Amino acid sequence: MNSSPFSPFSANRPRRLRQSPALRRLVTETRLSAEQLVLPLFAVPGKKVRRAVNSMPGVFQLSVDELVLEARAAHELGVPAVLLFGIPEKKDARASGAYAARGIVQRAVRELKKALPELLVITDVCLCEYMSHGHCGLIHAGDKSGRVQNDPTLELLARTAASHAEAGADLVAPSDMMDGRVRAIRTRLDKQGFNDTPIMSYAAKFASAFYGPFREAAESAPQFGDRRSYQMDAANTNEALREVALDLAEGADIVLVKPALAYLDVIHRVKTEFGFPTAAYSVSGEYSMIKAAAQNGWIDERAVTMEGLLAMRRAGADILITYAAKEVARWLQE
Ligand SMILES: [Zn+2]
Repeated sequence: MNSSPFSPFSANRPRRLRQSPALRRLVTETRLSAEQLVLPLFAVPGKKVRRAVNSMPGVFQLSVDELVLEARAAHELGVPAVLLFGIPEKKDARASGAYAARGIVQRAVRELKKALPELLVITDVCLCEYMSHGHCGLIHAGDKSGRVQNDPTLELLARTAASHAEAGADLVAPSDMMDGRVRAIRTRLDKQGFNDTPIMSYAAKFASAFYGPFREAAESAPQFGDRRSYQMDAANTNEALREVALDLAEGADIVLVKPALAYLDVIHRVKTEFGFPTAAYSVSGEYSMIKAAAQNGWIDERAVTMEGLLAMRRAGADILITYAAKEVARWLQE
């Protein structure tokens, strides 16, 4: 190859391969496929409930009957998996709704697996939606600092994961960021005979302002303090790798980075350094920013959404969790 700017360059004309759509497709390095998509869904009590989440146009809180319809529509478009969050009837200081045998997520899993046995049902394993204070684990009574007690929380997380597996979940996805929770969950699952239930761990979950709209959807905003004593500092990537290494050593099968677009370097390092199946969670703020700008006519929603997902794939993500999964799957068919 001749790289001098003063020499004849005709041997190297990269534009030769950009001349037509067919040529460009032939040499494309990264592809999007519906098979890589996971659609997050929010289950609420009741029947025929389809409550719009104002800050996330196109996203709804769904009663189990409606949730099955939504999952079916996505599955028919080629989306292979959903990720379930639950909003319980009642919250308390021990998150008992999270591990109740007839809890909202457990019911949703059962109905989904009955109606759509081929659909992969992944469950979010966390306590924040079920805790009266909105934090991801146990807090000493009267403590207003938001400091979650790590080790006593592990037992509740393990119970929650096991109850999801019991209901028929295909994968469990702990998102709390407590130390040691993957091992606690793996041990509990194995003890109850769920040796084959994989764990997708939110290994590098950052304390991010991009989660804003989700807290309306999941009704999980902390009542006091913030999550910075357990979620990661946005400034750190070496620490993210240590978190991933720990989760893998504890038995994680898939590792997840959250958020996605502002953390592409983290996704890239996680994928290149560990080579494990890696998921990117394109979070509510990423989704809502695109929706808002598109509603104003400022950007092309479809093009920007696809470009963002392609960037996550380029960075190394194998699995793309996005609120736009259904639309993306439809666009990919066109
Ligand atoms: Zn949580």
